[in-house]
Amino acid sequence: MNPALVLKAGREKSLRRHHPWIFSGAVERIEGEAASGDTLTVRSADGKPLALAAWSPKSQIRARVWSFDPGAKIDAAFFRTRIAEAAALRRTLEIDRHSNALRLVHGESDGLPGLVVDRYGDVLVAQFLSAGAERWREEILDALREASACEAIYERSDAEVRALEGFGPRTGFARGNQNARRCAVIEYGMNFRVDVERGQKTGFFLDQRENRQRVRELAAGREVLDCFCYTGGFAIAALSGGAHGVIAVDSSGAALEVARENLAANALEPDAIEFVEADVFAHLRALRDRRAQFGLVVLDPPKFAPTAAQARNAARAYKDINLLALKLLAPGGLLATFSCSGGVPMDLFQSIVAGAALDAGVQAKIIERFAAAADHPVALDFPEGEYLKGLLVLRP
Ligand code: SAH
Repeated sequence: MNPALVLKAGREKSLRRHHPWIFSGAVERIEGEAASGDTLTVRSADGKPLALAAWSPKSQIRARVWSFDPGAKIDAAFFRTRIAEAAALRRTLEIDRHSNALRLVHGESDGLPGLVVDRYGDVLVAQFLSAGAERWREEILDALREASACEAIYERSDAEVRALEGFGPRTGFARGNQNARRCAVIEYGMNFRVDVERGQKTGFFLDQRENRQRVRELAAGREVLDCFCYTGGFAIAALSGGAHGVIAVDSSGAALEVARENLAANALEPDAIEFVEADVFAHLRALRDRRAQFGLVVLDPPKFAPTAAQARNAARAYKDINLLALKLLAPGGLLATFSCSGGVPMDLFQSIVAGAALDAGVQAKIIERFAAAADHPVALDFPEGEYLKGLLVLRP
């Protein structure tokens, strides 16, 4: 029999709505012996079994639900089934018509809390970010290999959130061919190299795939500024969409090196993108002082507010860059502005951009909204899964 996690009286409501997180404040007691990652039967205060969850003794999220069927069995077959379901969902999306890269497993929204898996061609990159995912690592790796027939699995369990679960970082090949370090990705006919060892996160930002495509469609004939360009995703999309010229800014020299390789890997004018290694906050000011003007500006900053508690400082940072970017827009110019902060919901983000426009003295309109690509689904029971949002703003 599993050890049990007994909830405090009245704290079963979110579980009944199938929210997968159990916070420390909701836990009355543990019955039996439970080690990190062990499967617990979650019970209401009056003893009703509600779910099976993985024990995370170090984390404020004390347990994450594997199944809302308390009679289920959490074993290798369970992970094979969940991973097969995640793969089946991606097949129905037919992403492979446009790309050989996709997010195969998106954590809680695929019923696999703490597990993120991206596929780059024949290579999978996996992140084990919770005590439960860590406990079942071998079974999960076997199931991934089986479901995807991939050549190799590279582990990038070096995200900061692992520390909250009490684990140090772990990276390296977990399965298969040890030479698959640089993966060639094709996205809507554009070529990108993904450095799975040293790239940020798992190496590439797949969540922006469709938004890069939209920017590509909008870029024809425009001077483009791509802020926080990383390995050149938006910049290369804009250029291949017919942009006149692109300035692409990032503070990471390593990312810009890959960005230059990416540009060279496409049949595009090699001098049409000027890569600038700089802090975006400072560089936007420099461009303003030079009275530079752009027909399209992309702002895709890193997560300024991972949680709602950090939203205040993040709001200042978002407002600052959006204000500067709006001032750089020529009449008829477009701003594609994003936030991937879970702690900043769309309504807050929109009001930050509105404040920035007001202070910039720019009249602007929202003409479209952006979200993460469909291979980053949001389980309706787990609104936290919706983290990437964006606005397309027109300066008339
Ligand atoms: N738009 C990219 C992803 C951006 S990720 C794509 O489509 O692939 C965020 C990027 O911001 C990272 O490359 C990081 O190096 C960069 N960055 C973070 N802080 C920065 C700063 N203050 N100035 C410039 N770049 C920064």
